[in-house]
Amino acid sequence: MSLLRVSVDNHRCHRYAFCQAEAPENFKVTEDGRLDYERRPRTPDTDRVLMAARSCPMQAIHVEMR
Ligand code: SF4
Repeated sequence: MSLLRVSVDNHRCHRYAFCQAEAPENFKVTEDGRLDYERRPRTPDTDRVLMAARSCPMQAIHVEMR
């Protein structure tokens, strides 16, 4: 079971898609301009999810590890 919990602040996110470049399996900007993301990523994706959070210029991605 995943120990990661991800949330994105929609007010900060400007859909730049840097997160998608770092972790395409976890973050995706849709054609209609929304950000879809995995709220409970699998443990093997941890490093990529953390990289995505670091890459976000708006610091919109919050990652909790439990
Ligand atoms: S990098 Fe940040 S601002 Fe850009 S789409 Fe991802 S969460 Fe949103």
